[in-house]
Amino acid sequence: MHLTLTPQGLPDATGYNVVADLKGSEHPEQIIIVSGHLDSWDLGRGAIDDGAGVVISMATAELLQRLHIRPRRTLRVIAWMDEENGGGGNKAYAKTHAAEFPNHIAAIESDSGAGHPLGFHVKMSPAAIAALQPLRDILRPVGATVFRSTESSPGSDIEPMVEAGVPGIGIIQDGRKYFDYHHTAADTLDKVDPRDLRENAAAMAVIGYAIASMNDPLPR
Ligand SMILES: [Zn+2]
Repeated sequence: MHLTLTPQGLPDATGYNVVADLKGSEHPEQIIIVSGHLDSWDLGRGAIDDGAGVVISMATAELLQRLHIRPRRTLRVIAWMDEENGGGGNKAYAKTHAAEFPNHIAAIESDSGAGHPLGFHVKMSPAAIAALQPLRDILRPVGATVFRSTESSPGSDIEPMVEAGVPGIGIIQDGRKYFDYHHTAADTLDKVDPRDLRENAAAMAVIGYAIASMNDPLPR
């Protein structure tokens, strides 16, 4: 077999994270991040990796706006730049906002595609996991009831925060088809099922809003 490979590394170019805040009504300085990443591999369009994560995060803020619900804490939507090629976006955010990490109550990321949500990977204290258990009843109709503890960060862009002690959450998507398309030219919008995407938005909106509005900040 003869393979001709054409990849090449080009010099870095300037890019930007995209950040939007839905300000909290009582504790605007306390931040809950909902996020996905903006960049993709250049041979596909990045619909499932990770356009879906960006849409799910934006939908979280949009749903609250549409329902006229204002969270007590600030919900910060982030579309991270450069997840795929070294994490320059999350590193820049960590550098700029490190002093505010004590007020980052939780960081949520969706970066495992657009498949049906099963629940959450969590990196947080047992007390924090216990505080979130009522959400299992709320999310039962969607089917996103799993809370599975992980040793490492449940998302690569939230890793600097998680390492600094911020509770981290990643949505667990049904990944059976994810690696058929991920990082290929076939990662296009026709692979996204609208119903699965809506269920993911529901899962992130429920957990994001709950953490942004619970009486006490999520314990560390
Ligand atoms: Zn990704």
